[in-house]
Amino acid sequence: MAKKIPAAKTRGKHTWKDTKVGCVLLEEGKAKPFEPGEKPLLVPLWDKEMCVRCGLCYLFCPDAAIKRSDDGYYEATLDYCKGCGICHQECWFGAISMMEEA
Ligand code: SF4
Ligand code: SF4
Repeated sequence: MAKKIPAAKTRGKHTWKDTKVGCVLLEEGKAKPFEPGEKPLLVPLWDKEMCVRCGLCYLFCPDAAIKRSDDGYYEATLDYCKGCGICHQECWFGAISMMEEA
């Protein structure tokens, strides 16, 4: 795992050329423990009062399990959600909590 460096120490020293290319799979099978179709341990729960409808959760879901409702908010289709929590991690507004399925 990369060492975390406080932002203040790197400010002005790094340029965009030092940034690693994103969206590259360096190792296959990372998502294997989370097979779609299996019942996930945790499922995402949306808080509409905190959601700004930016759609980032929709874009980042690796299994296209998130759909946009008619009112513009988002929700997961639990048949496809594997409970990985990426939507929860990527939501800047803390609108998604991971909960045990009822
Ligand atoms: S990322 Fe968060 S704020 Fe954006 S649409 Fe999804 S739940 Fe709403
Ligand atoms: S936890 Fe979120 S990102 Fe992961 S599969 Fe379910 S809806 Fe998609």
